[in-house]
Amino acid sequence: MPSEPIAQLRGVGPAIGARLQRLNIRTKLDLILHLPFRYEDRTKVTPLDKVSSGTEHYVQGRILSVDVVRSQRPSVYVAIGEHHRARLNMRLLHYSPRQLNQLEEGMWLRVYGLARLGRKGMEMIHPEYRAFTSDPGDPQPEYIPVYPATQGLTSARIGSLIRQALNEIAFLPHYQYQGLTLGDALRLLHEPDVSRGWDGLHEARKRVAFDELLAFLLLRHRRQIQRSTFSTLALDKHRELHEMCLRSLGFSLTTAQQRVTQEVLSDLSRAKPMLRLLQGDVGSGKTVIAALAIVRAAENSTQTAFMAPTELLAEQHYETLSQWLSPLGIQVGLLTGRMTAPARKVRQEAIVRGEDTVIVGTHALFQESTKFKSLGLAIIDEQHRFGVHQRMQLRDKGRLPHQLIMTATPIPRTLAMYLFADMDVSVIDELPPGRQSIETSVHSAQQREKVISAVGNLLASGQQAYWVCAAIDLRDPEDGDFRGTADVLEELRAKLPNVQIGHLHGRMKTEEKDRIMKGFRSADIQLLVATTVVEVGIDVPNATLMVVDDGDRFGLAQLHQLRGRVGRGTKKSFCMLLYDPPISEASRNRLNALKAHTDGFELAHLDLTLRGPGEVFGKKQSGTESFRIADLVMDAELLQETRSEGEKLLEKNPEMASKIIDTWTPSESDYAAV
Ligand code: ADP
Ligand code: MG
Repeated sequence: MPSEPIAQLRGVGPAIGARLQRLNIRTKLDLILHLPFRYEDRTKVTPLDKVSSGTEHYVQGRILSVDVVRSQRPSVYVAIGEHHRARLNMRLLHYSPRQLNQLEEGMWLRVYGLARLGRKGMEMIHPEYRAFTSDPGDPQPEYIPVYPATQGLTSARIGSLIRQALNEIAFLPHYQYQGLTLGDALRLLHEPDVSRGWDGLHEARKRVAFDELLAFLLLRHRRQIQRSTFSTLALDKHRELHEMCLRSLGFSLTTAQQRVTQEVLSDLSRAKPMLRLLQGDVGSGKTVIAALAIVRAAENSTQTAFMAPTELLAEQHYETLSQWLSPLGIQVGLLTGRMTAPARKVRQEAIVRGEDTVIVGTHALFQESTKFKSLGLAIIDEQHRFGVHQRMQLRDKGRLPHQLIMTATPIPRTLAMYLFADMDVSVIDELPPGRQSIETSVHSAQQREKVISAVGNLLASGQQAYWVCAAIDLRDPEDGDFRGTADVLEELRAKLPNVQIGHLHGRMKTEEKDRIMKGFRSADIQLLVATTVVEVGIDVPNATLMVVDDGDRFGLAQLHQLRGRVGRGTKKSFCMLLYDPPISEASRNRLNALKAHTDGFELAHLDLTLRGPGEVFGKKQSGTESFRIADLVMDAELLQETRSEGEKLLEKNPEMASKIIDTWTPSESDYAAV
């Protein structure tokens, strides 16, 4: 079985087991999926006079001398040579007497290591070596896998455990693709076949990545099929509330919003649970769509759970929705973790009695024991915060509610079609009218005074601004030398004495945060110095300028999210990115990319090339899980193949499809069928 624990392998006791766990290896499958991160090229012996410093080489020669040099750090210099001119020292800093005894003048050594120019000429410090009593001739050409290792567990030891496990991989599916099974490909990666060359290794890695991507896609299909067997309440009744809601908005929907609303409402009117992803750049107006869906649910006497990623955002949605929906007689409730237990209890009772028609809350609250009278619809905002693999597990008396998932994650379309293969996708590809583009500029620290006076001028005209820093307080040297909100607050108070400045960060008490946010919304606070707590969803249309201090410390996706806090009204907006020179080329590219592009999708694509997917989809950036082997940039061209192959398999060999899923996600049975 793939999930067979490694403890069953010979030589793996509790100590080794614990070390393997540090490498996230718990099962035999984990072990054989622990791929080398590079290979030593031992296909050619480099002549000693061709050895270059800074490169790894495979060399061979006779021992000319063995000298113990007693300086500060005693070391052994073993000089080897082919003839008089070309020689190289193998230098050992740790050695045993026994080891020394084995090295005799005249013997042959075959050595692999990193060459460098030392004081006594070319040397290799602690290379790997083998001694021979007579000329061993040319070595067997080899690629030696080098594994990510950990203390107490060398790459070589890991390699030998893996080779042992490779003899027991009968559990892997025998599915062939391009002439290889997963097992074949893994074997090639762990026991490379030199005759296939480097290309053979690359192909084998691709084959493994393909399997993983295929499993993910098949799993999506499986869930889609499971979901289609569920029925739910068709929300097909409608009265005049929809029109009333539209009239009370104070704006009319864009064409894109109208189209997406129709897509959502038509899903809701069916007895099949909706699972729709609503993708739209920051500020494209996703919340209204959610409101209209809520109205439809309410007209059918069902409740809506509305999940937000942060408390701040939950509160903002609560206010917006109350403003739009209360006049229609739809009661909105708020449920957050920072409410007192009695207050929460009151809310939960209102929910179970069905008095609250919409409940806005943070994610965690819906995983707790919140019971509904009749849950018809669940909405998840800013889905990227919750992870690609993580889907909602809300059910209502065995019935799945309709689900609307909203995200501003700008992912290229081909990728979205893959990652969200089991969902229907709606895209808002149009911003509300009158939106001014945001003018973005990049400034070095020398222009700081200018930036501050630009802020002063803008505030004097009655508009508001954000000033975002990477951290709160920078006296902690671990954080590096960038500026924190505490210092910046002091600086700006001194330089802009007539301005009302607020301070907002994640470590503040809840009530304090609320007070500051309210103050900013009502424009009593003109300038908000904040950490990235303002990143997600905050909507204050009168704020038209965002300064980002140490802009080079942020990822592209994050900067784009931050910038989305301005440009939400009809006035022209600005984003000023500050940096302290010198900055790396990569950082400069990021800042310039932001200056040149306002489209989130385009930026995402650039991000993929500038940063790599680990960071785009890695935990830090987007809160999403990444794949074990596959790399969404490197393996992008596989996505298309995965789709066509996946369809074929499902049709012709569904049992194999299940096997592939089970190999990669053995814990899948723990998931809800969502
Ligand atoms: P996001 O898609 O980032 O969640 P929001 O739903 O917060 O965007 O909308 C951003 C702002 O645009 C809000 O102030 C909202 O009221 C406003 N808005 C949404 N749709 C329109 C529209 N069609 N016309 C004018 N303003 C709109
Ligand atoms: Mg939003």
